[in-house]
Amino acid sequence: MMKTRVHNFNAGPAALPLAVLEKAQAELLDYHGLGMSILEMSHRSAAFDDLMTQVDEDLRQLMGIPNNYKILFLQGGASLQFDMLPMNLLPKDVSADYLVNGVWGEKAVQEARKLGNTRVAASSEETNFDRLPNLSQADFDPRAAYLHFTSNETIHGNQWAETPKPPPGVPLVCDMSSDILSRPVEISKYGLIYAGAQKNAGPSGVTLVIIRDDLLERIPQNLPAMLDYRLLAEKGSLYNTPPSFSIYMLGLVLNWLLGLGGLKEIAKLNAKKADLVYQAIDQSDGYYRGYAQPECRSLMNVTFRLASTGLENSFVEAAAKEGLIGLKGHRSVGGLRASIYNACPVEAVEALVEFMADFHCRQGKVGRT
Ligand SMILES: *Cc1c(COP(=O)(O)O)cnc(C)c1O
Repeated sequence: MMKTRVHNFNAGPAALPLAVLEKAQAELLDYHGLGMSILEMSHRSAAFDDLMTQVDEDLRQLMGIPNNYKILFLQGGASLQFDMLPMNLLPKDVSADYLVNGVWGEKAVQEARKLGNTRVAASSEETNFDRLPNLSQADFDPRAAYLHFTSNETIHGNQWAETPKPPPGVPLVCDMSSDILSRPVEISKYGLIYAGAQKNAGPSGVTLVIIRDDLLERIPQNLPAMLDYRLLAEKGSLYNTPPSFSIYMLGLVLNWLLGLGGLKEIAKLNAKKADLVYQAIDQSDGYYRGYAQPECRSLMNVTFRLASTGLENSFVEAAAKEGLIGLKGHRSVGGLRASIYNACPVEAVEALVEFMADFHCRQGKVGRT
């Protein structure tokens, strides 16, 4: 007998759509009548070739990716992109600009610093990333190799509602790991987008890189093969064995999104879910306190606090008893975090909001005795 599935608020790897898991289960032993699993198949086979083509097409359709961009399916996570990006696109004689709105952006610039010249054009570290950097005071380098930002800071729970605008001619680079596919984006504003799949796009193991063709021309010769965007693009991400099962799962997620009506539709659902949780926070008379400032609140990762760490621990424990999992905040920020990515259903969010009211009520009474 199957145990009931929990309400999963994990930050990553995170919930996958039930329909996707069921489909993977149904075809696990026999993929498309070929008598073997996708897990057992050559990445040079016609069937796998078809799969890669389909995933590429579906991602292009969903995100509106023009033909002058390549999509790469890589390994190593978003963290490897912190290094691959400067190795490929940061020449010795110039520097790269970074907007830092959380720990991931900070890691990105720390890695790039090992490989070339960097500048922090703006940061919100001063207030421990409870907001976005103030762009009106940003110090942009008009000659920067690129401007890097993190569209959604998974740990602090802040998100750019509007795409920051780099100086003319400076390519915009985005770590979109925790909000890719959550809302429509205008790809033509970007030079490069990267994202580990395991937050919002699929399982861990595959990392997406979407890169504009003209940037491929700037890549130096003789980079190590596995770190060379141009070579990986030329080989259609098949220079070596790709993370085939993760790409397959990503494909199922894309298919699920297309079935829902695409990114505009999922964005509406995401806004509705986030609204429910933030309302529960804001209408609790200060019992729950949002971590990120209201104007930059993430629709993906809702970060909030209670009056004490003890109370927060009780919250996490009591929630787990009710089947609400993954609500502990990241160790670098503390507090609580509900990750409500695409695959987190509205019902799970409703259960959370109900639990929050319930917990407040019970603990409030305890407090008064
Ligand atoms: C999770 C995350 C990363 C790190 O991803 P890995 O795939 O574990 O390397 C980087 N950036 C952001 C915004 C993330 O959410």
